[in-house]
Amino acid sequence: MTKKQLLINDFIPDSPESLLFQAIQKSEKVVFSTSFGKEDQAITFLIQKEQLPISIFTLDTGRLFEETYEVHDRTINKYHVQIKVYSPDQNKLSELVSKKGPLSFYESIENRKECCAIRKIEPLIRALENAEIWITGLRKDQSLNRAQMSQIEWDESNQVIKIHPLFYWTNEQLDLFLDTNNIPINILHKKGFPSIGCAPCTRAIEKGEDERAGRWWWEGSKKECGLHQTN
Ligand code: SF4
Repeated sequence: MTKKQLLINDFIPDSPESLLFQAIQKSEKVVFSTSFGKEDQAITFLIQKEQLPISIFTLDTGRLFEETYEVHDRTINKYHVQIKVYSPDQNKLSELVSKKGPLSFYESIENRKECCAIRKIEPLIRALENAEIWITGLRKDQSLNRAQMSQIEWDESNQVIKIHPLFYWTNEQLDLFLDTNNIPINILHKKGFPSIGCAPCTRAIEKGEDERAGRWWWEGSKKECGLHQTN
């Protein structure tokens, strides 16, 4: 058994709070990524409630919905938390948009991946540079792809342990938690957007579609941008 497996096996699957506490007991380098979706808002609430020493960061791709910036603003004002913003490398972005235009991601999967790589993946690599444990808001029932993940897993590409404290929560459980604790949420959630990413790449979903069906909808089944791939 490798060292990383031992570390992962050291965690006891438990409530979201317990997993967050276990994480900070095992490492001083714990980070949490938020995109201000419902799940992330619940975790931000727990971190500030318990005053946990977990650094919060977000990736600002430059193409987010205005509503996402609004909930970002409401969150820092309400909870007085510091959220570090990682933006794309301006030289790479300028080169991409100058060469291919602002909507190249609709033209091919390669172009879409190129845009995600510049706007999301490279900033994520910087955000995780010194981290040992990465907390995320993933839930198992968000998509078939996510159902194949584990609540506590090793991320080979970023060389960190990933923990998804809300992994087994249903959408109903989550809504109840948000309501009970009066947690601010993105108003797009009430307009048919369970999953909210960049504005040009996210649409509202139809009844019966899985929660991530509105992401890169023109591509068919692929619903991850590379931030959360199954190992
Ligand atoms: Fe670019 Fe769309 Fe990916 Fe955002 S989601 S980084 S706009 S391709």
